[in-house]
Amino acid sequence: MSRIVYVNGRYVPYAKAAVHVEDRGFQFADAVYEVCQVRNGHLVDEARHMARLARSLSELKIPAPMSAGALAHVMRETIRRNRVNDGVVYLQVTRGEGPREFVFPSQDVPRTVVCIARAFAPDLQDATAADGIAVKTLPDIRWRRADIKTVMLLPACLAKEAARGDGAREAWLVDDKGFVTEGASSNAWIVSREGTVITRQIAPAILAGVTRATLIDLLREEKVAYEERAFRISEALEAREAFITSATNTVMPVVSIDGRPIGEGRPGPLTLRLRSKFDQFAVISGA
Ligand code: PLP
Repeated sequence: MSRIVYVNGRYVPYAKAAVHVEDRGFQFADAVYEVCQVRNGHLVDEARHMARLARSLSELKIPAPMSAGALAHVMRETIRRNRVNDGVVYLQVTRGEGPREFVFPSQDVPRTVVCIARAFAPDLQDATAADGIAVKTLPDIRWRRADIKTVMLLPACLAKEAARGDGAREAWLVDDKGFVTEGASSNAWIVSREGTVITRQIAPAILAGVTRATLIDLLREEKVAYEERAFRISEALEAREAFITSATNTVMPVVSIDGRPIGEGRPGPLTLRLRSKFDQFAVISGA
């Protein structure tokens, strides 16, 4: 079956999908996006993703291209047309096209909207989670509005590439004061010796992860102690467990940081419990 992509009101074959060369997303990274998990053919955490997209658009003063309901419909239709059962769906909105000028074009310029769905095998993710992943730490060189989910992802690409060079799957970014902000494409978490789950508080320095928010709901439900505060690499190295969260990875155990083992150097029991709780939530929310 050939893949279908949504571009500006049309569902077109993948190979034929295109945007203009003077699209501001292409020239200025003047664009925002969302990546949602798909379970059983349904969007997981749809309301939170749509709310964050609306916020990203509003922070950049990009007029919404259509209602949140219509955008969600585009995502669902792209999933349906590609028969994605388990996977991810990517939605991008740019400020539109026009002659290359820094200042914004008129509000009437139509925004570019692209939606792509991709299937993946949950078993492969589970196999990765069974081993856990390695993390490499790097300075956080991103701009100061990491809370807006823009496509300006070059620092994240550089960090991931450097991590891969060292055999790590994710990079943890460290701010000027020595505190971990977040992963290159995930939120960063540790579990202290006392069993408290710790992740950085929401601020312009990090993206408010949808998986992060849902996991906090689950921690409350499970009555697991948690703190939202910054931590240093030294504290992470002393932690009992560590993990990352993102829509693509859900809860993914971290077993080493810069080549040094976390806890026993294996996925931690609380992390695996939270992964399975999140999985149950995703199946129900995608039911
Ligand atoms: N932080 C960054 C920088 C990200 O790019 C992502 C996801 O892509 C996340 C955190 C996790 O967000 P979510 O759980 O909404 O996928």
